[in-house]
Amino acid sequence: MSEKDSLLLLGAGPIGLAAAVEASTGATPFRCIAPSIDAPWLPNYALWKSDAARLDLTADLRLAFDAVDFVGLSGSTRTIPLGYGFLNNTTLQRRLRANSDGRWQQGRVEALTEAPDGVTATLDDGTTLKASVVLDARGSRSAQGGAPLPAQTAFGVEIELPQGHPGLPMRFMDWSFAAPAGEPPSFLYSVPIAPGRLFVEETVLSARPAFAIERLRERLKARLEGLGLGAAPWIAGTEEHCYIPMGGLPPAAGGSVIPIGAAAGWVHPASGYLLGHGLGWARDAARVAATGAAATEVWQAAWPADRRRMWALYRFGLDLLLRSDHAQTSAFFDEFFQLPLDRVQAYLTASGSANELASTMWMLFAQGSWSLKRRLAAAGLRPEALRLVRELSGD
Ligand SMILES: Cc1cc2nc3c(=O)[nH]c(=O)nc-3n(C[C@H](O)[C@H](O)[C@H](O)COP(=O)(O)OP(=O)(O)OC[C@H]3O[C@@H](n4cnc5c(N)ncnc54)[C@H](O)[C@@H]3O)c2cc1C
Repeated sequence: MSEKDSLLLLGAGPIGLAAAVEASTGATPFRCIAPSIDAPWLPNYALWKSDAARLDLTADLRLAFDAVDFVGLSGSTRTIPLGYGFLNNTTLQRRLRANSDGRWQQGRVEALTEAPDGVTATLDDGTTLKASVVLDARGSRSAQGGAPLPAQTAFGVEIELPQGHPGLPMRFMDWSFAAPAGEPPSFLYSVPIAPGRLFVEETVLSARPAFAIERLRERLKARLEGLGLGAAPWIAGTEEHCYIPMGGLPPAAGGSVIPIGAAAGWVHPASGYLLGHGLGWARDAARVAATGAAATEVWQAAWPADRRRMWALYRFGLDLLLRSDHAQTSAFFDEFFQLPLDRVQAYLTASGSANELASTMWMLFAQGSWSLKRRLAAAGLRPEALRLVRELSGD
């Protein structure tokens, strides 16, 4: 017979570990399961400095900037005075592990079966574990309800700058290299990571079907040639291949398995970021779960009504971006970054309320060019937008 825990926590990525640390502060014993508990986190995780400060992670930043640049299709540059930083994955992961005192078990969960008396997790070695509530932080899923989700894809690499090349500043988005007609637009993300070294990444913000990473590698090569960096050596072992499913609806309420993090669709539907808001949301859900609360309460903590409304609004933004060509996407962000800084920050960090977000989107509409107004109005008449109105008007 399998043992029964009050709480099972699946996954040891940033969200799983943040939840485990928070669950350790409660009285409910819990168990954590991941196939390779201390496997290093490979992505170059970044977040806004305001989020790092709020989450008490400022000391975990290995590299930080006080501002980021935006470059439009025409080459015009705006400097956005919002601090941005990169996490030291190694120290953060080690610290979270040291502070999470659940029982850790190595294994891959193959199946979760729900019954009135709880959930049974079946592991790849045949072990079965029972729990009242499961927090599922097993990472992103590429489809929902049988339909593939749109995805962000990126190809990045560190390069060595040639002697005398001034390099590039911290560019959050550079849309100055037009995509071939008929292909989704991509932008360059560049980070001066050390003297003489630059991390460069070509990213398609979102596309359905996902845009091929190999094509992004080719685009990055062509772009670097245009920047006089065609001959700059690529540093071995620094390639980043990125695939992030975006959008999707919140998981249904009512079950005892509550997804959190990328598994829950917490990825910001308009940017692909997650950690700045998601680490705090994971703590909120785990805190409630660690009190021994019923699954419905834990689900509410993971998806409060206002968050669901906010995510519905962001999905509207994602829908607009999915229909935009290169020039339209660049123009959209150019107009977005002209909004008051507190609005830009709240939008990017998902830190306001749904009402504040709606008012920012309305401001973008009111202040935007006629071309943007026409596109927003057309998007507003689509069935997805009508569903959004329904979601906004009720729980
Ligand atoms: C290349 C890349 C770069 C990114 N960069 C950023 C960034 O800079 N900033 C940002 O905010 N977001 C970024 N994201 C998005 C998001 O933050 C990450 O995807 C993040 O890793 C999600 O954290 P998570 O803990 O939810 O899932 P994951 O990090 O994917 O962790 C999933 C965990 O579940 C475990 N697991 C998987 N299957 C099972 C199973 N069957 N049973 C038990 N355990 C299982 C895995 O081993 C792992 O421990 C990036 C994503 C990618 C792919």
